[in-house]
Amino acid sequence: MNKRRITALSLSACALLSACRGKAEVTEKYIDPTEASQQIQSMELDTVVKRAEEGFYDDKPMSQANAGVTTDGQYLYDFGSGRNYRVDLQTGQVSGFCRIPGCPHSTGTYGCLDFEHFGSPVATDKGVYYIEENKVMLCDGQTSTCVYTNDYYTQHEQKVRPDHPKDLCAVVIHGNTIYAVGCSFCIPLDRNTYKASEPIQLSDTSILRFSADDRYVYFINQNDEFFCYSLSDNEITKLGDKVVISRQYEGQTYYIQYKEGTPILYRFEDPASTHDKVIENCYVLFAITNGYIYYQHYSTSDIDRSNDELDFTLYLYDMATGEIKAVPGYDPGKRIDIAYSPMIDKIFTIDVRNSMGGYISGKICAFKAGETDYKVIDVEF
Ligand SMILES: [Zn+2]
Repeated sequence: MNKRRITALSLSACALLSACRGKAEVTEKYIDPTEASQQIQSMELDTVVKRAEEGFYDDKPMSQANAGVTTDGQYLYDFGSGRNYRVDLQTGQVSGFCRIPGCPHSTGTYGCLDFEHFGSPVATDKGVYYIEENKVMLCDGQTSTCVYTNDYYTQHEQKVRPDHPKDLCAVVIHGNTIYAVGCSFCIPLDRNTYKASEPIQLSDTSILRFSADDRYVYFINQNDEFFCYSLSDNEITKLGDKVVISRQYEGQTYYIQYKEGTPILYRFEDPASTHDKVIENCYVLFAITNGYIYYQHYSTSDIDRSNDELDFTLYLYDMATGEIKAVPGYDPGKRIDIAYSPMIDKIFTIDVRNSMGGYISGKICAFKAGETDYKVIDVEF
């Protein structure tokens, strides 16, 4: 084992020990990862997990924002920070994603899953689904299996990806359906048998965002136009312009639309019903869970401002009362990645940077929905 890694492990274990028990144990000795994991358990996140009838799945939309972060109710996974790792949602323990027996988990190791690229990962209690060229793959941390191979494409794919027209862009899961999303279409797959239904042609341009509920799939194209496709009558309806993301929470669809440079969060129950304004100036990486929304500001006028002039405050919106609170004492100094799932009672702000040699360090803050205090998880290994 690399010496630098041993030091990092013992340091982070000590830091956690001293923070949690008020007692520092300074040691230079090698800490066995199993031993370290037992010590780190004192962190205790105690996440409450709701399970859907279909079992646990991350219902995250297709989006560039937070594309690499996902949760299966047991772990929060980050596939977007240079080294793939996971955080235990009960204990706060951080470990690599790779579970291959005997793998040394180092940068040079062929096939180590800590350093493999996972396209559009979506975690479920069966494993992590992801895209590899024209295939939907499933990985349990040791082996990867292909569950679907796509052969469908249109003239649009031929035009924008002449060498790989069959390649897929994302996996989105809703209920018992896995949507394999291509440039301009989606293919619904049965989540248990992986049997494919007919491809649904959605657009003649590229789709950049995609989400689904029981009745519709929603998509935003490269021109920021927002549409829904009815699964019952196959009709496509345009819902708005300048929309940057949509996603579902407890039977409602939330989306962000820019108006005169300000991102506004709206919601509706049915596309044809009233669209209610929820939050003015809500950055695309908002997080909703247990009746609360965490978010930062980001109007287009911010683009020209220097970092010193910008407001990076994290705000908390109470959906029952409409009250907005700032999170005191939390200054990320930048726009943060926020990871969450409506199926868990926590949101996580992620500040993890790549570092030389494939080792990563940074921190994750865990907020219990509705609270402004938080627990800090050191990500260092
Ligand atoms: Zn490995």
